[in-house]
Amino acid sequence: MTLLMPNDAKSEPELSQTGLPTEQRKPLIDPFGRRVSYVRLSVTDRCDMRCTYCMAEEMQFLPRAELLTLEELNRLCTALIERGVEILRITGGEPLIRQNIMSLFKALSRHLSTGALRELTLTTNGSQLARFASPLADCGVRRINVSLDSLNADKYHAITRFGHHAEVLAGIEAARKAGLKIKINMVALRGVNDDEIVPMLEWAHGYGMDLTLIEVMPMGTIGADRADQYLPLTQVRSDLESRYTLKTSSHKTGGPARYAEVQETGGRIGFITPLTHNFCEGCNRVRVTCKGTLFMCLGQEDAADLRAPLRASTSDDLLHQTLDEAILRKPKGHDFDIGRHHAHPAVPRHMSMTGG
Ligand code: SAM
Ligand code: SF4
Repeated sequence: MTLLMPNDAKSEPELSQTGLPTEQRKPLIDPFGRRVSYVRLSVTDRCDMRCTYCMAEEMQFLPRAELLTLEELNRLCTALIERGVEILRITGGEPLIRQNIMSLFKALSRHLSTGALRELTLTTNGSQLARFASPLADCGVRRINVSLDSLNADKYHAITRFGHHAEVLAGIEAARKAGLKIKINMVALRGVNDDEIVPMLEWAHGYGMDLTLIEVMPMGTIGADRADQYLPLTQVRSDLESRYTLKTSSHKTGGPARYAEVQETGGRIGFITPLTHNFCEGCNRVRVTCKGTLFMCLGQEDAADLRAPLRASTSDDLLHQTLDEAILRKPKGHDFDIGRHHAHPAVPRHMSMTGG
C-alpha cells in the first residue's frame, strides 16, 4: 500500500477572489424549517492514517480526476455562503494533505473579512499541523478540532495504524503558539481507550483545550465489528459524574456536541451521541464531499451531485437550482443503530468521504 506524502505548500496557485453579489439569494431552508448555516466540506478522501474505526487498512480512494479542483471548491463555497452558510468546516480524509490546500483557506478568508462567513475552521488529525498552524491563523482560522484518541504513543499508533503521536503533539503545540483555540476529538472505543478518558480530560483541560467524546458511528466497512468498538456515552457520562461535577453548559459551536462544564478542572467536555441521543432535531448542517456530492444527512444515502451543475456553466444559476431542489429532500433524521443484529454499516460510505 502506498501512503501519501504530505504535499509541499510552496507554489500555491492564486484562486479567484471574487466577492458575493450585493443582492442576497434566499437562504437554504429545509421542509422542517431548519436553516442550513453550517457546511462540512471534505476536500480529500485520502489520509495519511487509517484509524481502525474509520477506514479499512486497504482503501480504494477516488481517482484524482474525480475531485473538484481547488478553484471549483472555492466557487462552490462562495455559492453556499451566498445562501446563508456562516460556518465552514474543512475536513476530509486529512484536509492538510490536499495539495495547495492553503490557497483555498486564503481564498475563503475573504468572506471572513466581509463578515459573510462567521467562521472558517478545520478538523485535522494533526500530522501536518506543525507546518500549517501559523498559516491557518493568518487566514483567519481561530478554532480547530484535532483528533487524538490516546495519550499513549503505542496505543495511538495501533488505533491510527500509521499515526505518530509525537508529530501530533508537536502540531498541537504549534497551534497553541499560533493562538488557535483547540478542541480535542476522541472517539470512545470500548476496551481500547475507555481507561484514558479521565487522563485525556485532565490533560486537555490542563492546557485549556476542550475535549469532545464521540460515539463510534456505523459508517463504511472497516474489517472489524463496530459492536465491539461501541461505547455508549451515557455510560461514560455517568462514570464521569461519579468523579467530577458536570454542569450542563449552554455552549454551542454550531456542531452536534452537547457540552458540560467540569467544575474541578474549569474545562468543557462535549458529547457527540448520535446513537444514544439522536441530535437531528436541531440539525443545521449539510456535507459536501471532495467530488462535489452534497449529503443532506450524515446518516442517509440520499445525495445531490453539485459537480455537474458547477461544470455545466460558468454562471451559478444551475448550481443554486440544484441546491434548492436538494434542500427540499433533507430528511428529518438519521437511521444509525449499532447492535448485534446490525452487522452491516448504516451507510456504506466511510466517514472520510463526508468528513466528521
Ligand atoms: N482526518 C481528520 C481527523 O481525523 O480529524 C478529519 C476527518 S475525520 C473523518 C473527522 C472525525 O471523524 C475525527 O474526529 C474522527 O475521529 C471521526 N470519525 C471517523 N470515523 C468515525 C466513525 N466511524 N464514528 C465516529 N467518529 C468517526
Ligand atoms: Fe484519517 Fe481522520 Fe479517518 Fe483517522 S479519522 S483515518 S485521521 S480521516
